[in-house]
Amino acid sequence: MRTKITKVKNIKFGKGFCVIGGPCAIESKEQLLKTAEAIKKNIDILRGGAFKPRSRPESFQGLGKKGLEILKEVGEKIKKPTVTEVMDPRDVELVCSFTDILQIGARNMQNYPLLKEVGKTKKPVLLKRGFSATLAEWYGALDYILKEGNNRIILCERGIRTFERATRFTLDLAGALLAKRETGFPVIIDPSHATGNPVLIPPLVRAAKAAGFDGVMVEVHYNPKIAKSDAKQALLPREFNRIFKSL
Ligand code: PEP
Ligand code: MN
Repeated sequence: MRTKITKVKNIKFGKGFCVIGGPCAIESKEQLLKTAEAIKKNIDILRGGAFKPRSRPESFQGLGKKGLEILKEVGEKIKKPTVTEVMDPRDVELVCSFTDILQIGARNMQNYPLLKEVGKTKKPVLLKRGFSATLAEWYGALDYILKEGNNRIILCERGIRTFERATRFTLDLAGALLAKRETGFPVIIDPSHATGNPVLIPPLVRAAKAAGFDGVMVEVHYNPKIAKSDAKQALLPREFNRIFKSL
């Protein structure tokens, strides 16, 4: 099946290899700007979370609206479209006013009221696969969005939970390839969350390209040591940029 195209400003997911990069969470204007400036030549889309789905309530939850404002400002500054996660159906309108792509995170892939709400918008939706979701369940989530009239979709494989603990999750490249064939929507790969290990990220970006996926999403921080979330898997800008020199 020919891949459908999801256009985001002048970027076409489904045609060529699109790169999304940026920090896990937006921590400050300085942090996002420093990171974005350092990687802008190699990204199509800037990412950064303002509402973070953390496993523990005492962990950094994101800057909320303030984070959205920073994302919009920095995106405009570096002239790149942006993507950020929305977790609550009540925030969809707010998040829409600050970003170009709405991200549905793995933990919210089966948040059906949220899927319906983003389905009612005209914004492109980056739909991550839940880490315990079968392909059929992922397609079910996709159908919730399509049914409301929004067909601007990008699917994202970010690893599933298996018995293996040596990597953070297990990157299901085969499943993701099937998803691309069976849905026709562009599929991108997130090796950052899938592995939790910076050493494994560059080769998996190359694997994603070689296998014909439509792009990648990679976490980068100008100083991973001080990152407030997913510090272990963040690449330094120079490590990130090196991947794309040889791609
Ligand atoms: C993220 O992209 O920052 C994120 C939380 O990813 P996931 O939903 O895949 O865990
Ligand atoms: Mn993250």
